[in-house]
Amino acid sequence: MRKLSAHYIFTGTGIILKKGIIILTDDGVIVDIIDTNGELDELSGVEFYSGVMVPGFVNAHCHIELSHLRDIFPEKTGLPVFLKNVIQYRNLEENKVIEEARKADSELWKNGVVAVGDISNTDTTFQLKSESKIAYHTFIETLGFSPQRAERAFGWAKHCFDEVQSLGLSASIVPHSPYSISKALLEMISEFAISQHSILSMHSQECSEEDALYCSGDGEIVRHLTENLAIDLTFFKPTGKSALESVIDWLPIENKLLLVHNICTGQKDIDFIAKTRSLNKTWFVLCPDSNLYIEDRLPDIELFRKNKLLICLGTDSLSSNHKLSVLDEMKTIQSHFPAIPFGEIVIWATRNGAEALEMDDWAGTIEKGKKPGINLITGMDLQHLQLQSQSKVKRLI
Ligand SMILES: [Zn+2]
Repeated sequence: MRKLSAHYIFTGTGIILKKGIIILTDDGVIVDIIDTNGELDELSGVEFYSGVMVPGFVNAHCHIELSHLRDIFPEKTGLPVFLKNVIQYRNLEENKVIEEARKADSELWKNGVVAVGDISNTDTTFQLKSESKIAYHTFIETLGFSPQRAERAFGWAKHCFDEVQSLGLSASIVPHSPYSISKALLEMISEFAISQHSILSMHSQECSEEDALYCSGDGEIVRHLTENLAIDLTFFKPTGKSALESVIDWLPIENKLLLVHNICTGQKDIDFIAKTRSLNKTWFVLCPDSNLYIEDRLPDIELFRKNKLLICLGTDSLSSNHKLSVLDEMKTIQSHFPAIPFGEIVIWATRNGAEALEMDDWAGTIEKGKKPGINLITGMDLQHLQLQSQSKVKRLI
């Protein structure tokens, strides 16, 4: 049995305890939580830490399969150039890909992450995910803007799905983004998702060029599809609507959906999603460090707060981020949006991700009976309860 205490405990439920005590079994199951009302008397056997304790982090969007692309691509070039680079450099010897993905898995663990929503386009990382201390939900991601590719793309995804499930990992088949998917492929994904009650995920509104493709059939994404991927677009008719509006009707409303990035998401989009599908089943995943890396822009997070959206955090991959650290994403948010209370960012980094990935029976909050992992954040401004650039995370259990 261990008894842990710190200056503050942010439980991830909204409750904050000053000098509270968490009692856990040696393998991390919470047995009791004591509210000391800030008066921690000399209690034998209590490990007291200077800083703030929070639940283990949930990284709702990552691609450990792309970890070998760390520090290769230039920053702030925009999404179309980034996509071209990924195509050019992503294929490498499988052993090297696995080796770098293993390092990424250790880095995530060391940085206090207990659960990950991880995108896979291949089966390369399944074995290591099944051996990891981290709980993974694998999003098997399909790509294919040309309807002729739909059958083959879904067939490969289904093969990967069967393989990952045989290793005992939870998984779902998902679309990559509105600009890399056909209606034919989305219909196959949707039918399968309904039968499996799958969690869906899609990159969305990462740059304004996505809308140009659907609105007018022009722009940088169009050039990417025709020049880099050699797709004949004669079949494609622009919808005159935004990318999100054009495809969201093809996704089943009964399934959970994680929309990733949301850099260009405005009030009109939020109203549209609210009208089309329930906002209670839609999570908005923010990957701010990746957004700064690729587009040098951040989403309108204050607007999302105003609309009470379900927000969670992701690191994206090492091809567009220098580290896989949820704390670093929190620090970026805190430094650009200082008015957002730290406790709210903690909920985005823990509980909301656990609920989105259906791991909230054990992760995401410090509550009796759960085994969420406990992180200690040091180097905070404890007077104003704000993260600072020197803040660090240490996994206590
Ligand atoms: Zn991504």
